[in-house]
Amino acid sequence: MKLTVLCDNNTYIDQYYLGEPALCFYIEDENRKILLDAGYSSVFKKNAALMNLDLNQLTDIVISHGHNDHTRGLKYLLPSLKKDVTLTVHPHAFKPKYDGEEYIGAPFSKDEILSLVKYRESFDPVSITSRLIFLGQIPRKTDFEAKNPIGCEVVDGERKPDFLIDDSALVYKSDKGLFVITGCSHSGICNIIEYAKEVCGEDRIIGCIGGFHIFDDEEQIRKTLDYFCSNNIQKLYPCHCVSLKAKCEFMKALNVEEVGVGLKIEVV
Ligand SMILES: [Zn+2]
Ligand SMILES: [Zn+2]
Repeated sequence: MKLTVLCDNNTYIDQYYLGEPALCFYIEDENRKILLDAGYSSVFKKNAALMNLDLNQLTDIVISHGHNDHTRGLKYLLPSLKKDVTLTVHPHAFKPKYDGEEYIGAPFSKDEILSLVKYRESFDPVSITSRLIFLGQIPRKTDFEAKNPIGCEVVDGERKPDFLIDDSALVYKSDKGLFVITGCSHSGICNIIEYAKEVCGEDRIIGCIGGFHIFDDEEQIRKTLDYFCSNNIQKLYPCHCVSLKAKCEFMKALNVEEVGVGLKIEVV
């Protein structure tokens, strides 16, 4: 499995890609070419062109959750894409989402998406390749994660506090252990890793990349670090929605890599 960071908040010095506070990963495994999320604007497309990656060859799109910093870029991609691309997603990801009066959900309704791609929604885990799994809905077991709603989602015409039940992730099963790939981890990074272990029947975690949605909550930082350490995570790639404070704490005990646009990771 090869992963390339097409969009992140961070860029590296001397590499002239574009960044934005959003996320998009390009993943190749077996014969599939997969986009996990699509950022906020067309930045991911510009970066892909600079990297000579042809997004017209995509076979799959996986959406981690419906927020616009992960989905809004779809409007720059889908209308020009061939229709046999399969989009895999939790059933709530295309529900309208608001923060107050501001719209923060996906740029297409579910009906519009159905006319643009092969749409596959699932609460349960779905295999994208023989080793890469979309986890579906993440069971929430920890008491220090996913505590607060973010705005509201509209379900059956009614606005409800949005606990982002659509928030999911990918896991890659290598022979050496699991590599977990997240969007924003609104469901909790520890909950995600714990569910990945359960779904795959594997306890070894070789790495984890993505947003962990950790900012200034000291209890969450401490308990997450304890969880990472007790699971002996070999390499951590925190990005997008992880504060400097959290990264600094993680670096005291773990092997942490700096993530930026253009980063390539190969897991065998
Ligand atoms: Zn989000
Ligand atoms: Zn995000």
